[in-house]
Amino acid sequence: MICVSIGRGRHKQMIAEHQHLADQGAELVELRLDYIRRDVSLARLLKDRPCPVVIACRRKEDGGKWAGTEQARRILLRSAIVDGADYVDLEEDIAGAIARYGKTKRIVSYHNFNEFPEDLERVHARMLTLDPDIVKVAVMGYHPGHNIRMLKLIRTSPVPTVGICMGDIGIPTRLLAGKFGAPFTYATFHHERALAPGQLSYRQMVETYGYDRIREDTEVFGVVADPIGHSLSPIIHNAAFRALNLNRVYIPFRVPEGELDAFLHDCDLLDVKGLSVTIPHKEAALRALTSIEAAAREIGAVNTILIEGTERRGYNTDYHAAIDSILRGVGEGDASNPLAGRIALVLGAGGVARAVAFGLRQRDVDVVVTNRTDERARYLAQQIGCRWVDWSTRHALKPHLLVNCTPVGMHPNVDETPYLRHYLRRQMVVFDTVYNPEQTLLIKEARRQGCRTVTGVDMFVRQAAMQFKLFTKQSPPIALMVEQVRRAIGAARIETPIFGEADIEDQATVEANPPRTDGLSAVDGPDGEGADDD
Ligand code: NAP
Repeated sequence: MICVSIGRGRHKQMIAEHQHLADQGAELVELRLDYIRRDVSLARLLKDRPCPVVIACRRKEDGGKWAGTEQARRILLRSAIVDGADYVDLEEDIAGAIARYGKTKRIVSYHNFNEFPEDLERVHARMLTLDPDIVKVAVMGYHPGHNIRMLKLIRTSPVPTVGICMGDIGIPTRLLAGKFGAPFTYATFHHERALAPGQLSYRQMVETYGYDRIREDTEVFGVVADPIGHSLSPIIHNAAFRALNLNRVYIPFRVPEGELDAFLHDCDLLDVKGLSVTIPHKEAALRALTSIEAAAREIGAVNTILIEGTERRGYNTDYHAAIDSILRGVGEGDASNPLAGRIALVLGAGGVARAVAFGLRQRDVDVVVTNRTDERARYLAQQIGCRWVDWSTRHALKPHLLVNCTPVGMHPNVDETPYLRHYLRRQMVVFDTVYNPEQTLLIKEARRQGCRTVTGVDMFVRQAAMQFKLFTKQSPPIALMVEQVRRAIGAARIETPIFGEADIEDQATVEANPPRTDGLSAVDGPDGEGADDD
């Protein structure tokens, strides 16, 4: 069950949002009396309520807005009990002073917006002595391991417990609450009006994550990244799981750099079976796996991990997706290697450029790399055995294939292009890996020049579809995935997809990942530092 927190300044707004949520199917709302800017009328809020309520009135030190006296606050909470509120939220320090009465259930709560208390279990044990029906613990989460402790606490508590790690690191505790036995989780009415850090909206909880479908035996998938906020992967994967009626959920795990190993160690407890991996972990992941697909090893980056018992298997679906997108753009499906002998100019020398350049070299393409920072272009060219040119001379080349692997043109800088329009020629195939927006300036100008084009959405959906196939061993619902991405980035449906389910091939097999003995990581960069983010 989801409890939706409503914090509005006026009774009228609070009542309207309550009604709206009940109409949408909400089963429980929290009315935050501390947000109301005038004398609170409990009668107005409780009379004809369309679904059950938790009454809460938070002081400033507990993250609330209450500006009245403490005495007045306690009177309000007592009145809520007398008036028959379904639940009343009593902080630990006042729960002993406010007696149980009637049918109102007592939520005894502890909030800490500054830290994750080292003695969490002791705090929880104290609250059990205060006659709770439900215990609520909401503290800041600073480390993925904090989520584990919180979820374990929920699972082992003798009294139903809602345990939340606030902040975006703690989002898994909000989403997996039900799986671990919490009676409900909290959400906000609107994602732009979160009442606590990391709170998701009711709509996100229901539409993106299908919270009410998450059960004890639901398998968990997710994306590990830092930062995590912008990822479209939860939208696309959850929609696909739902379409195939799979008992799975895909959630965002914010894992800071250097903490991937520890996180992978905890995956069993979370029931995590598969992960997408992105910045800054794609290279570090190589060292945390028991076996790796050959291409991922050669590129030096992993973007997908499958977890089975102690096995951790790594793949790189970015690479396969980029090459398949290019082959589609080239469009000579019958030739055994339509790319052989062509000149490809790769803009950028980061993670995506490395995967693209590597894949093209494998297909005997004459690859030329160019990058804003020369040194990285030179290094990449050296690694994969291709040419490189200075960024300022990139227009002098006449490539058959142009691939943008820089973020130039990405939202919000949509008026920028990495390649000047009048150097685009009709015979060129232009592939822009940027997917937000789908129609980048480079793609629009290339179309106007009559070039064949491939967008980053094509690649993005392909890599996700390949991950889906690895995660589920089932055919991905491609059209739905494309639709989800386009809707999320606000793209028009100008081009219907793109490729079919049969185009998503099985991923290559993985090979055992022996530990390196030369003291080098697989990804050391030009200066001996870790290589670029992928
Ligand atoms: P990355 O490792 O950080 O590399 C970024 C590259 O872009 C570097 O070579 C960097 O040059 C260059 N660059 C950055 N800002 C630039 C600018 N203003 N002008 C010229 N060059 C610039 O990133 P990545 O993971 O390779 O991702 C690159 C892009 O690929 C992303 O922005 C994203 O749009 C796209 N992408 C698409 C998909 C997909 O599925 N479609 C997946 C992942 C990424 P320096 O070396 O000089 O810094």
